Amino acid sequence: MADRAQTDIVVVGAGVLGLSVACHLLDRNAGRVVVVDADTPAAGTSGAGAGFVGLWAAGYADFFTDGELTLEQYGIDYYRDLAEHGASIDHRVNGNLYAATTEDGWRRWVEPVVGHASAPPGTRGLSPRETAEATGGVLSAESVVGAALHPGGIQISAGRATRALADRLVAGGGVLRTHTRVTGLLTSDRAVTGVRTAAGDITAKSVVLACGAWTNALVPALGYRAPLMRVVATRVISPPSGVGADMPTVMVPDLYGLWLREHRGGLTYGNGDGYAPLFELDGALGEGGRPHAGQLVERLAELLSPRLRKLVPAHDTSVGWWLQGVPCMTPDRRFLAGPVPGVRGVHVVTGDNEAGVTHGPGLGRMMADLILDGGSTWIDPADYRLDRFAPGTFPTERSVLAAMPARR
Ligand SMILES: Cc1cc2nc3c(=O)[nH]c(=O)nc-3n(C[C@H](O)[C@H](O)[C@H](O)COP(=O)(O)OP(=O)(O)OC[C@H]3O[C@@H](n4cnc5c(N)ncnc54)[C@H](O)[C@@H]3O)c2cc1C
Repeated sequence: MADRAQTDIVVVGAGVLGLSVACHLLDRNAGRVVVVDADTPAAGTSGAGAGFVGLWAAGYADFFTDGELTLEQYGIDYYRDLAEHGASIDHRVNGNLYAATTEDGWRRWVEPVVGHASAPPGTRGLSPRETAEATGGVLSAESVVGAALHPGGIQISAGRATRALADRLVAGGGVLRTHTRVTGLLTSDRAVTGVRTAAGDITAKSVVLACGAWTNALVPALGYRAPLMRVVATRVISPPSGVGADMPTVMVPDLYGLWLREHRGGLTYGNGDGYAPLFELDGALGEGGRPHAGQLVERLAELLSPRLRKLVPAHDTSVGWWLQGVPCMTPDRRFLAGPVPGVRGVHVVTGDNEAGVTHGPGLGRMMADLILDGGSTWIDPADYRLDRFAPGTFPTERSVLAAMPARR
């Protein structure tokens, strides 16, 4: 049955990006905003996110610059505000810690954080003993050469935060339609007029595609293909073993990008051993929801576990259970956010580069500005425009992978 109420803006996708856009549109009195999801909020990649939120542009991710730093600080502030308004998102200001296990790792990954021009107040380098102390003894002093600490970094539950955004949407007068798959876009004279769903058409003046790993199921019909490389990423959760709740989030880049943090008295962690391009994993992702690639968990258990036992000797790091999601990478590791070239009224926000929880609120604010004003005085959207890549430059996911700068 068709939706008869006049909708101004339809957002496709109730992940952290789509809901952030929708909430900011409502803040700006954008009219009737409807978010449509094939499943439920956080059923996609957002529900698998590890929930590290930090200032990655301050020395850790060298493909990020001042624009991302602004988005990151906005994310930290936005989640604090959500928590202060009573949302149960497991919000903690534990700090972000960047550790090295080798001298080379220290020089390449940790030193740039300590000495970065935009290092936040209180940033400091830690000796091996201080690193062990800062983590409540989780990291052993014997297996690290040191670390850098950003004390203002936070951790949240990404799934809970996404559901809290959905609650904020509805409380603010927005509409959430779950279990409603968008099967196509309605256009007339090169302008969007709404979306098609199995439950009927929804007419709208604008459409925002925030459908993550499924973006290229919808946009090619408009003559545009998003340059995305989808990666299946694994998050392991170990059994409870008395890990303290105030432990900072930990990144150990020289262990193939290891990240770990406390989760209900145990640890949650992952690294490159549990990641693979989706195109190497036939059938790992269906029409929606999360992937299921057990072979990545087996590989991670085989390759990472011995090193993890050395790094974290006092706690159980075995695989209790695991989750997977599908971050979308771009050729330059910057987000893909802006109008779709050649069709009026359609915007895309994706290309999260496994950092959408951190940057989601800021991207949501920027997208609301773009949709309502055609630009943003808050942040320069040029770095994220879709047309920064010439059409046809990245016809396949493999070609995106080949262009990506090395992972940090
Ligand atoms: C293991 C792991 C760890 C991570 N850790 C972090 C971290 O610590 N910090 C951080 O910042 N980021 C992290 N990320 C990345 C973060 O989770 C993503 O960047 C973010 O969740 C992407 O959000 P999204 O809204 O783009 O996608 P999604 O959450 O996937 O949302 C897209 C939604 O669109 C819906 N949809 C798709 N197609 C349709 C359709 N046709 N019709 C209707 N609905 C549709 C889906 O059902 C889904 O709900 C991590 C990711 C993983 C997997």
